[in-house]
Amino acid sequence: MKYLIGNLKMNLTYFETSSYLDTLNNEIKKANLKHTIIGEAVSHDSISLILDKPDKQYLFGAQNIFHKQKGAYTGEVSIRSAEELNLDFVLLGHSERRMMFNETDDLINQKIAHIENTKVRPVLCVGEDLATFEAKKTKEFIIDQLNKCLKGITDYRDLIISYEPIYCIGNGIIPEICHIEHVIEYIKEFTHHKVPVLYGGSVSLKNIDLLKQIKNVDGFLVGGAALDPINFIEMAKRID
Ligand code: PEP
Repeated sequence: MKYLIGNLKMNLTYFETSSYLDTLNNEIKKANLKHTIIGEAVSHDSISLILDKPDKQYLFGAQNIFHKQKGAYTGEVSIRSAEELNLDFVLLGHSERRMMFNETDDLINQKIAHIENTKVRPVLCVGEDLATFEAKKTKEFIIDQLNKCLKGITDYRDLIISYEPIYCIGNGIIPEICHIEHVIEYIKEFTHHKVPVLYGGSVSLKNIDLLKQIKNVDGFLVGGAALDPINFIEMAKRID
């Protein structure tokens, strides 16, 4: 099976997300996908919409979670809420969280450890910046991120990893296919080939036919191009 996961970021309000999800669901039903699992990561204000969508044909996710059970953590959302709502997954370590909210590999490790024994699957994002890529240090960088983010994690069963080179997010640029294949291979070796590895970074209808040729990819994480649910499911049909 392949995964196609959308990340709505902070683009839609509660009601906009609700109508987006309804369109998405109709498109999934029409598409009759056989080999592709759709996921959607909504913003925190919209996670309770899962209760209104009993017929959903997609995995329902959050974009972040805090690593404490409860307490004085103003503005944060707990894994208890995610579990209570039966969320399927949560994005962790997205580059926007790392860059704008100073999330470190150590913090991301605490979050993964915190949700390890729940039914909510972590979707860990890793990826190098342009300077690291140009210095040909991608492999060392990714292995270091994995070592730190997965420290002490012994059971990779529920983990999904998305390789997202930071310099390719939201700007229409994608790396060479062979570069993506190499990085996916490092990640698969590190995780003993037990973890689905996705690619994310400017995936769109324009390049999906090229990207689906990546020989070892298990799917894609999509930001901007997921905002149109019809195009998003068209992408799913292309990879299915
Ligand atoms: C993302 O933010 O995870 C992402 C891949 O964004 P985009 O598809 O817009 O590059």
